[in-house]
Amino acid sequence: MSLLRILHHPDPRLRTKAKAITEFPPEVATLAADMLETMYAAPGIGLAATQVDVHQRLIVVDVSENNDEPYVLINPTLKLIGENIPWEEGCLSVPGIYETVQRSEHIEVSAQDVTGKEITMQASGILAICIQHECDHLDGKLFVDYLSSLKRSRINKKLKKNKEEA
Ligand code: ZN
Repeated sequence: MSLLRILHHPDPRLRTKAKAITEFPPEVATLAADMLETMYAAPGIGLAATQVDVHQRLIVVDVSENNDEPYVLINPTLKLIGENIPWEEGCLSVPGIYETVQRSEHIEVSAQDVTGKEITMQASGILAICIQHECDHLDGKLFVDYLSSLKRSRINKKLKKNKEEA
């Protein structure tokens, strides 16, 4: 397994719309394993292929305390159920920034696993929020897009400053 390089906002490659995965050779499972390893090492609770510059519809998520409940979701589609709730989010591609975003509290997910098998699941709370955040990445969308333009320009300034200091 190997660690992958995570793209940082405002890298334009983060704005790429990912393509559906239609074949399931062993390389898909390898990519998922490398993404999980990269996510755990970061550390983070979710990672989309877009963030490692692979523009295919694959996300990995693990919101457990002991990193022992990984989900690999390929070609995920979401049905939003119930109320929107505020949740403070961060992102491995927007390091050091935490802001509150509104997301659906419950979701139903249809996806495929690394062998192409169809899976459906329900998720609530942090798992639901995290899956929605990662699915946005596959459409080239970042959580900061939900914020006011004033907040976004403050964040961009801060990221630029962090980069210059690094
Ligand atoms: Zn993210």
